[in-house]
Amino acid sequence: MKDTFKHKGMRKQLTQVVASKGITDTDVLSAIDTIPRHLFMDSGFVDHAYQDKAFPIGADQTISQPYTVAFQTELLNLKKGDKILEIGTGSGYQTAVLCELGAKVYSIERQLELFKKTSKFLPKLGYRAKKLIFGDGYKGLVEEAPFDGIIVTAGAPIVPKQLLNQLKIGGRLVIPVGKDSQIMTLYLRETEKKFKKQEFGEFRFVPLLEDKN
Ligand code: SAH
Repeated sequence: MKDTFKHKGMRKQLTQVVASKGITDTDVLSAIDTIPRHLFMDSGFVDHAYQDKAFPIGADQTISQPYTVAFQTELLNLKKGDKILEIGTGSGYQTAVLCELGAKVYSIERQLELFKKTSKFLPKLGYRAKKLIFGDGYKGLVEEAPFDGIIVTAGAPIVPKQLLNQLKIGGRLVIPVGKDSQIMTLYLRETEKKFKKQEFGEFRFVPLLEDKN
């Protein structure tokens, strides 16, 4: 599959749409403008790739809406070289955004089919995460902790304690919390024991699931 002028044009428009909804971080906007989102989706959906919408990616999962990806990434407030843990690799689109911003990315996916597909696909586009892991994101990745930031891309019924514990002091956890719909929530680790919590409105995600199927 190719990245044509037509795709690039549609991507510019998408970037403008995302900006018009309130995203101001120019690095985040430039990542949206750069990454060929249509290549992350099954061919049948290519025409929809540059609408600001979520779409199915197989295994009952979805690629998040670009605005949501941008919103979560903006909240992470990452610097080049930061060590970031992502829960829910899915299509790898959010992973690519994090790589594009210069993060060292560790990403966990619990669906084997998606893990295999995305592990092959991302390097083909030149996006090299530090590690893609098949496993349960509820546990985080204790052997690589602490992280500058953790981003959860599925709706979490509860905030996993392990994830809070795996943040550096000054680190940020961005997590949509709730069952049917979710409140985007940011936890900033101020000291070893103290976390500052901020909420950022309602979003809708596929659920963060506990047991492997
Ligand atoms: N970041 C992805 C969004 C995919 S949707 C993208 O940009 O495409 C959320 C993903 O979280 C799904 O792929 C789902 O399989 C995964 N997921 C759900 N529960 C999980 C868990 N406990 N650990 C890791 N991944 C999980």
